[in-house]
Amino acid sequence: MQRDLAELTKNAYELLVIGGGIYGACIAWEASLRGLSVALLEKGDFGEATSANSLKTIHGGLRYLQHADLKRMRESIYERTTLMRIAPHLIHPLPVLLPTYGSGIKGKEVLSVALFLNDLISCDRNWIKDPQKHIPNGRIFSKQECQSLLPGISSQGLTGGALFYDAQVYNSERLTISFLRKAQQTGAAVANYVEVIGFLQSGNCVTGVRVRDSLTGDRFDIQAKTVVNTSGPWVNRVLGLVKGSKTRCQVSLAKAMNLVIRRPLFKNYAVGISSQKSYSDPDAVINKGSRLLFVAPWRGKSMIGTNYSVYDGNPDDFQVTENDIQAFLNEINRAHPPASLKMEDVDFVHGGLLPRSGIEPKTGEPLLSKHYQLHDHSQEGLLGLISVVGVKYTTARDVAQKVIDRVFKSWGKKPPKSLSATTPVYGGEIEKFETFLDEAIANAPYGLDEEIMRRLVYNYGSAYPEVLKYLESNLDRDQKFLDNLDVIKAEVIHGVREEMAQKLTDVVFRRTELGSAGYPGNKALHICAQTMAAELGWSLSQIQQELQEVSNASKSHCLVREEV
Ligand SMILES: Cc1cc2nc3c(=O)[nH]c(=O)nc-3n(C[C@H](O)[C@H](O)[C@H](O)COP(=O)(O)OP(=O)(O)OC[C@H]3O[C@@H](n4cnc5c(N)ncnc54)[C@H](O)[C@@H]3O)c2cc1C
Repeated sequence: MQRDLAELTKNAYELLVIGGGIYGACIAWEASLRGLSVALLEKGDFGEATSANSLKTIHGGLRYLQHADLKRMRESIYERTTLMRIAPHLIHPLPVLLPTYGSGIKGKEVLSVALFLNDLISCDRNWIKDPQKHIPNGRIFSKQECQSLLPGISSQGLTGGALFYDAQVYNSERLTISFLRKAQQTGAAVANYVEVIGFLQSGNCVTGVRVRDSLTGDRFDIQAKTVVNTSGPWVNRVLGLVKGSKTRCQVSLAKAMNLVIRRPLFKNYAVGISSQKSYSDPDAVINKGSRLLFVAPWRGKSMIGTNYSVYDGNPDDFQVTENDIQAFLNEINRAHPPASLKMEDVDFVHGGLLPRSGIEPKTGEPLLSKHYQLHDHSQEGLLGLISVVGVKYTTARDVAQKVIDRVFKSWGKKPPKSLSATTPVYGGEIEKFETFLDEAIANAPYGLDEEIMRRLVYNYGSAYPEVLKYLESNLDRDQKFLDNLDVIKAEVIHGVREEMAQKLTDVVFRRTELGSAGYPGNKALHICAQTMAAELGWSLSQIQQELQEVSNASKSHCLVREEV
């Protein structure tokens, strides 16, 4: 994936996508797969905003039963299976336990009906060849079993538990990149660190964009027949760049946050525990009276989410404060007192902005938007511009398919058939995941150990040999690895040469899993910076600046453990 800005100015594209989050990446892939000439521009690094901060759950939508929203549930189930098929290395089934209490809405009886309906509604979920992706039926179990699976769980009123399966994305940043790599292989031009700063307009028609290269400050124009604005929380800021139009999407924002906790609260399972904070969803047919806190296994630690609050500021000023984190820790400790979490237990913070539809009047909690928006601005007389506001990482591919259908229709053309539900993403050419993994481990080159091979397969799938190309056989163990973190130097070089990594932060947080669950340590960062410096010709002062940027980003993710 090469960053060729000169090429961007030479062409007039059929479609230009603003924003390289998961929605932009899926739209670029969908468009190029259907034969369109496409460009995608991202003002920072690909996937660095909302998309890098999700709770990594690929939802099958059990909770939509509360809203009796079977359509949304079916969409989510279909997308979960689709992602397991096209990205088998990145998406894996995740067992989830829910302790049951009393005989009401959180009791065994209600949950057993919910599990039954979930299995029924998703009866085609295992129409996928790979047995590792099969999702078993849910089941209810006894109080004793629940206590042995979840030691320390509150026993007051405990009647047992419910087990069901969802899916987890092993590395959401790499899934975003994997869609982009396929888009680029199919002809799309993609570039990071290019910000859209204005629109080219002819009468009531958008004909392209004016951009600024954030790395050099250079400005230039790119022509396009249709522009898709998928800039996430910035959607209305970008619309504000259109001259002579007040067109906007209906978007207010909510701050959303997850915490990565250094010691796992539970092992092997994700667990849903009820928050003590009251919450009522006006759209729900059945109201539980509180939100569920989801504790998921993550890199040997626990990831806990999601906490929401109303956000009325500028998306550029968004940050998670220490008060936000402390308030969330208090909420978790009230819901599960044995956790007894303190600030020093937090290794990483995910924070992002999501669309909200309103505010719950009694509690002041944000009500999150449940449905994506696809806004064709021709409705207001502005041609050539469509905005898309997503609400879930899980359903981005499905929304992308609908966006490209709309683009063709706006040109008065019949959309060609979409193939994105069956075409593997970059690294997804795997028929049976377990067999593929076993073979990769058995054929490990250069004496790479099992754990490294496992990680390479989980991150790069069938494309892992492309990474190994950059591993020199004559290096000793210390030279091959970044400290003891099992990320190999070859991944850093691969990130720079093949995946457009421009900055140390890109490699640490998004091309490799080096910084995905906590501060990787000064030594690993220095080796990583030196490796990139040799590739990109960085001076000593630039290396220092890059290290400083990682340190700043680490602080905002709250993950620096002082070791200077
Ligand atoms: C804490 C949290 C937990 C979540 N958990 C889950 C979950 O478990 N499962 C799930 O399915 N979903 C989850 N979500 C929701 C999901 O992450 C989002 O719906 C999704 O990532 C939105 O993607 P996006 O591409 O629309 O936005 P973004 O990822 O924000 O992408 C928009 C991009 O546009 C770029 N941009 C903005 N302005 C410009 C410009 N002028 N020029 C060029 N580029 C520009 C930005 O830099 C940004 O990268 C969660 C979200 C959060 C915050």
